[in-house]
Amino acid sequence: MASITVMLSTLSAAVVIGWSAQHRPIQVLHLAGPGPRVLVVGCIHGNECEGMVVVNALLRTHPREDLWLLPDLNPDGYDIRRRLNANGVDLNRTFPNGRQPETRVAVALIRRIHPDVTIWFHQAENRVRAWGGSEAVARRYARLSGMRYASVNWPTGAATRWQNTALHEKAFVVELPAESLDPWQIQAQVRAVLGVATVG
Ligand SMILES: [Zn+2]
Repeated sequence: MASITVMLSTLSAAVVIGWSAQHRPIQVLHLAGPGPRVLVVGCIHGNECEGMVVVNALLRTHPREDLWLLPDLNPDGYDIRRRLNANGVDLNRTFPNGRQPETRVAVALIRRIHPDVTIWFHQAENRVRAWGGSEAVARRYARLSGMRYASVNWPTGAATRWQNTALHEKAFVVELPAESLDPWQIQAQVRAVLGVATVG
């Protein structure tokens, strides 16, 4: 783990920070910037992964934020387009102490980089969701992206619940629509990610 920690702080290319239950790599990309630290998770439920398209587009930007991109936290689920991981577990009900390898990877990353804002992409409610201390920043994201907003309490074991309540970080959910994003929708998401933490 020590060598991984060193790599995370020095490389901007994709870095493998851990492995899924079926030993697929879980990668992070870091676009270093001076601004607030923003973590974007493109996929946690393997059949709700359109956020990976947004992550891809973010890779071509030069953010003021200190941007951390985790394209796919559930590569086993994504491989068969299933919500759960290879052990049949909903990862977003296992934070922070779940025994799933993917959960441990995410918890270790979040504890290490301590993001100011974390955006978790899901589908397919087509709205931004938040609760408590993250409501204001999530409303701003909704405004910047042109999406609807709703205040909905977090399920037990959700990553956002852990980050909001235990870590006092601002973390919220962007539920993309069911269908693939068109180029304009992708740009709207990129604009929102790059503006949510820095716009006054
Ligand atoms: Zn989901």
